[in-house]
Amino acid sequence: MYKKFNAELIKAKLSLKPWESSHASNFKKHIKELILKKQNYYCCYCQRDLDKDTNRIKHIEHILPKSKFPLYMFDLTNLAISCVRCNSDKKLADISFLNITEGNYTYCWCNAIYQSGIYKFVHPNIDIIQEHLIRKTFACNNRIYYQYKCLSKKGFFHYKYFDLCFFESEDISKNQGIMTNKLASSSKQLVDELFKKHNQPRLTRR
Ligand SMILES: [Zn+2]
Repeated sequence: MYKKFNAELIKAKLSLKPWESSHASNFKKHIKELILKKQNYYCCYCQRDLDKDTNRIKHIEHILPKSKFPLYMFDLTNLAISCVRCNSDKKLADISFLNITEGNYTYCWCNAIYQSGIYKFVHPNIDIIQEHLIRKTFACNNRIYYQYKCLSKKGFFHYKYFDLCFFESEDISKNQGIMTNKLASSSKQLVDELFKKHNQPRLTRR
């Protein structure tokens, strides 16, 4: 798949901003649809639906930030599709989710960078998300609610790192017609109460 883009990507890599280069456009367009399909049209981090009929904007996400790990900028293992919120906000150039410092990985290619143990959160292309974190739905008073259930230490870190509680409160606020900011402080309690009512544990840790 890469071969047909090789010539263009070489030109892109020679430019000042390789990822933004027009020579990278066809590659980006091609892989975006390819990866989305592979992810079943869900955000690689929050698992929310990114299907065509929703208005959520989809970003090509560099799991290792391209500003700190430029060598892996066009590598498919380092690319995934995420929603805007997971792609921006806090992640950006942050690497606190790594168990290593960028060090030598920045200057020479090393396959060891793709070991699961290096990542504190669930890596979209290395780990199997369902083994660490599940997004569940349940109905209450004819409304749909969402809940994340953490199944491992990694899943719990993922939940905290991407602040997935926000999406639980977002969904609840939408469903109940309450403004998210008014609900933010009590959202966790509200989710807990709703799930307690339905006899479901909210979070479990190994
Ligand atoms: Zn997301």
